Amino acid sequence: MPDLDDRDALSTFRRDLATWFRQHRRDLSWRRVRDPYAILVSEILLQQTRVEQAQGYYARFMAAFPDLATLARASEEDVLKVWAGAGYYRRARNLHQLARAVAETGLPTTAAELEDLPGIGPYTAAAVASIAFGEPVAAVDGNVRRVLARLFAVEAPNARWLRETAERFLDRADPGAWNQAVMELGSLVCTPKNPTCAACPAARFCRGKGDPERYPVRRVRRQMVVSACALVLKGGGGYVLERRDGRALGGLWGFPLEEGPSALEVLLSRYRLASARPLGTVEHAFTHKKLTIEVYAASWPGPVDDPGSRPLSVLDRKILALASVSPVP
Ligand code: SF4
Repeated sequence: MPDLDDRDALSTFRRDLATWFRQHRRDLSWRRVRDPYAILVSEILLQQTRVEQAQGYYARFMAAFPDLATLARASEEDVLKVWAGAGYYRRARNLHQLARAVAETGLPTTAAELEDLPGIGPYTAAAVASIAFGEPVAAVDGNVRRVLARLFAVEAPNARWLRETAERFLDRADPGAWNQAVMELGSLVCTPKNPTCAACPAARFCRGKGDPERYPVRRVRRQMVVSACALVLKGGGGYVLERRDGRALGGLWGFPLEEGPSALEVLLSRYRLASARPLGTVEHAFTHKKLTIEVYAASWPGPVDDPGSRPLSVLDRKILALASVSPVP
């Protein structure tokens, strides 16, 4: 097997992967443009959204905010409304702040400068700098981590090894295409489960192909299970909605909601209600916790909001859907 520590083997590997990428790359909207802002928006979306879903959100976002200046002028609520459904709303808030910070000057062109902006970590900075500006810097995401770990049969690659190996592999003649090629290989061929080694352009260099799923060892994520209650208070023309705080959903609006064993009592007391009628159960998973939400409903004589006019999270859309099919007293 050719050894990727050997210079000639590495050149052959680069050439093979570049050829494969030209033939197999997916035709994605953000790959058809050279606009750094559009590339940035796509990378922010792809941080936590799958490519297939990201395409729709990308189109909607770019239609509403086609450039940095338009995004900078928008209100946070309008930005969140357009982002609604994509989840991880901190990304949208950071992107909005970023636009306000650089609307006058334009995006910086190096990974080091990009990393100083809100919501931009080392991966996103390297991806944008290499794809939009051609800076020779390696982008290391989960796909790259998996591909490199398997190529060298490393069970627990540490950050330093990954960084050094990715930099050594980088094709400095076309760093943007190279970074995308390695990531595309991880997305389409060297997948977490059932990688298709038989169709892989890197197979003849790969030390891990005999037992690929052994590399890298998977991190086990524990997810807390939390019970909660939500209150659907219906009045003429809408529902009572509260503006949410916190990292996950801050800036969005939603139904009054509390976690914990006394959640219903807390909600009833907040709205000075004696009781509410059970409507059903909604489940929603965040990265770190899974919420099981008992939804209660009551009629409300006071002011209400039209949910169509507020940015709602997916969680609140689920509650709204339940309220829409169940008669609220
Ligand atoms: S040969 Fe298999 S394990 Fe190795 S890089 Fe290709 S798909 Fe991944």
